[in-house]
Amino acid sequence: MTDAPPTLPSVTTPSAVLERTFGYSAFRGQQADIIDRVVSGGDALVLMPTGGGKSLCYQIPALVREGTGVVVSPLIALMQDQVDALGAVGVRAAFLNSTQDGQQRRDVEQAFLSGELDLLYLAPERLRVESTAALLDRGRISLFAIDEAHCVSQWGHDFRPDYLGLSMLHERWPDVPRIALTATATPATHREIAQRLDLGSAEHFVSSFDRPNIQYRIEPKTEPKQQLLKLLTTEHRGDAGIVYCLSRKSVEQTAQFLVDNGIPALPYHAGLDSGTRARHQSRFLREDGIVMVATIAFGMGIDKPDVRFVAHLDLPKSVEGYYQETGRAGRDGLPSTAWLAYGLQDVVQQRRMIQESDGDEAHRRRLQQHLDAMLALCETVECRRVQLLAYFGQASEPCGNCDTCLTPAESWDGTIPAQKLLSTVVRLWRERHQRFGAGHLIDILLGKRTPRVIEQNHVELKTFGIGTELSEQEWRDAVRQLLAQGLLAVASDGYGTLVLTEASASVLDGSRQVRLRRDPVKQTTRAMRTTGVDLPSDAQGLFERLRAWRADTARAQGVPAYVVFGDSTLRGIAVTRPSSLEELGTISGVGAKKLEVYGDAVLEVVGQSAVTAA
Ligand code: ADP
Ligand code: ZN
Repeated sequence: MTDAPPTLPSVTTPSAVLERTFGYSAFRGQQADIIDRVVSGGDALVLMPTGGGKSLCYQIPALVREGTGVVVSPLIALMQDQVDALGAVGVRAAFLNSTQDGQQRRDVEQAFLSGELDLLYLAPERLRVESTAALLDRGRISLFAIDEAHCVSQWGHDFRPDYLGLSMLHERWPDVPRIALTATATPATHREIAQRLDLGSAEHFVSSFDRPNIQYRIEPKTEPKQQLLKLLTTEHRGDAGIVYCLSRKSVEQTAQFLVDNGIPALPYHAGLDSGTRARHQSRFLREDGIVMVATIAFGMGIDKPDVRFVAHLDLPKSVEGYYQETGRAGRDGLPSTAWLAYGLQDVVQQRRMIQESDGDEAHRRRLQQHLDAMLALCETVECRRVQLLAYFGQASEPCGNCDTCLTPAESWDGTIPAQKLLSTVVRLWRERHQRFGAGHLIDILLGKRTPRVIEQNHVELKTFGIGTELSEQEWRDAVRQLLAQGLLAVASDGYGTLVLTEASASVLDGSRQVRLRRDPVKQTTRAMRTTGVDLPSDAQGLFERLRAWRADTARAQGVPAYVVFGDSTLRGIAVTRPSSLEELGTISGVGAKKLEVYGDAVLEVVGQSAVTAA
């Protein structure tokens, strides 16, 4: 909480709050309907993509209705930033979680009981404690917001057992409206949320999951670090972004590699102590242009709006995970990139990890299904976005902003090469009881007399040297795709050797045709851009000065830069060059409180720039 709770002028309608408090002129998408529903006391289940504007859907009803809005969120580490961001627009918010000492907690409880809080953030496990529930009983609750509602789903990838207890909200406080929100839900997860949270009478608001400002690109992995460096230096210099790697070791190595190449990068994984993790997260949020190299332990609930790219150096385990991770790019609606490098080794490794995973057969089958959907996305020759949205139950048209739309990939008839490869696998097994990995199989097909080929006397095999029509890389692409299509499998011997599947027979006997994707020679890139993208050149300089001012201000106040103003607001200022507080107040993102606190300083930066320009 900020020291003296600022007093808000009495504003009562949702659109008045939107304009005065948040500085926005119009609701987006379904916001107005959702807010009306909750303001009038009804329950709501909201599926809206990241960056769609979910927060206002409960914040505004909490400001309009009497009492305190109670927000259940699993993201303890981010509560401070959320509360700071609300404080910056004059909303009275606080949280109760395990990071506080007794006195801090008592202060918040007191503020709640005296009706001085508009919003109170709680971790779900708090609600299991009777004393917390008793506290809520003694105050006045305007609504319950259940954020990250997909955490209640056991099928999903973020399951939190404490979420199962949240059906108690309705039992204990039947008259308080509830709004559950998530950015990630397949149709099955959607149903599960409604059922487990006991939202039988809730109205469902399902927005399009599309994130049109994100450009999706998936390219073959050859030299991953160099490919990443190229992406960062040619398209994203100076931008904030996240790079995901599978292992702690590759996180460390990649972060070091970027630093060695002059890019401010920080590592983040569960092996770092919590102090280091918190420090790195805080620098990522607070400073401009930091690249976070992380395992998937990083990112849930990070609502930094100006993440310009999300890069994956390893294959994600599911489409849900991939969509959620890439969704952290471009919350502010400005152009952003989701980039993934993917290769044969990824498929072999993931198939192996599934075989070696704990859990029963059903669990492994589920992991397998998740992986298959992810592989299908990687290997498609159709629009990536069409495929992604279809996965979430939504039909769409080719998007024009993904790699396959921008640089179409061809498909070709790979039946004969597939037969050559599969029959090599068959012969080795039938004639010699041997199994090998992709590398050796390809050596045989290419007729390479490697020491191993000679030692094993594989020159004698009938398929030796029959595959010279493809290059080594083309063979690797083919093997990867056969694995992805389930026409070849990784043996469970832990060595990554390859075996046939039931479906292989139909290829060998010629009854099934194999279509393979030919990766375009020229990879999709876009022109070098910076955060000032598309700004007229005379606004560019002012934008940079405003960013510098914002960095200083944020540092002095100990808050993330975006809490001061988002990039899109700074762009608005740079383009309109307001000369009065009144004019400044009309720019999107400038509400009453920010105008009061930052208005003069911003006008000064604009004024100085007019002098320099003259
Ligand atoms: P989500 O939680 O759905 O990911 P947020 O609530 O963080 O999205 O909103 C994303 C961004 O869009 C924020 O910077 C927010 O201030 C902005 N925003 C939300 N609603 C509006 C609106 N009606 N007009 C302008 N900007 C908005
Ligand atoms: Zn597309």
